[in-house]
Amino acid sequence: MTAVLSLSEVTKRYPGGVTSLDRVSLDIHAGECLAIVGPSGSGKSTLLNICGTLDRPTSGEVLLLGRSVPRMNDRELSTLRGGTLGFVFQQSHLNERLSAVDNVATGLLYAGVPRRQRPALAREALDRVGLADRFTHRPHELSGGERQRVGIARALVNSPALILADEPTGALDSVTGRRILDLFLELNREGATIALITHDQQIAAELPRRVEIRDGRLSERVAA
Ligand code: ADP
Ligand code: MG
Repeated sequence: MTAVLSLSEVTKRYPGGVTSLDRVSLDIHAGECLAIVGPSGSGKSTLLNICGTLDRPTSGEVLLLGRSVPRMNDRELSTLRGGTLGFVFQQSHLNERLSAVDNVATGLLYAGVPRRQRPALAREALDRVGLADRFTHRPHELSGGERQRVGIARALVNSPALILADEPTGALDSVTGRRILDLFLELNREGATIALITHDQQIAAELPRRVEIRDGRLSERVAA
């Protein structure tokens, strides 16, 4: 089976000499729920940006649904990204002036879905994350956990082949973070493919597969 995402020998070097990824190889298959764990500064966000086609490697190959990312131009990449990936960040990055439904609908801007179909899909995604009673709320009327759920609904709404989450519980208290983690696990049981970045070993231990990154080198971890 082709991997949803396949990295081989990916290296990222920044001008000035920092090597933030060092020959990283990683395959993510449909249906997986993967933790990428590592301490601060180990290269996690760099890896997420490259997995998410937001950044290009210095060398190595990245295949998203079998297509070579380094060979695509920016326009091709943004189309591919809009149709196949969903992003969740530590801060939910919501538009404060838009309702929950309209925030989620922005996840369809680059997915080629006609404008009038977007609100219904957005409401469906909000329902899936347990916010059926918050459609018209603005972000400032929501709790931190609810805001992150809106962020997750926005990532889900285009039925992405892969959801990439960078420290999605990092800004939340432990009880709320636990609920968000349970939501990711539930979405995975329903079929979503998820790569979740965390520096928290306890969170990583809950996920079915873990890889560890240290000083830009990736290794598979067998047990918690
Ligand atoms: P993490 O997310 O695990 O904390 P990052 O991927 O953000 O780690 O960073 C990995 C390393 O790459 C760090 O040493 C960081 O300082 C460096 N780095 C990240 N982005 C840049 C950049 N744009 N320019 C130079 N160095 C960078
Ligand atoms: Mg980071």
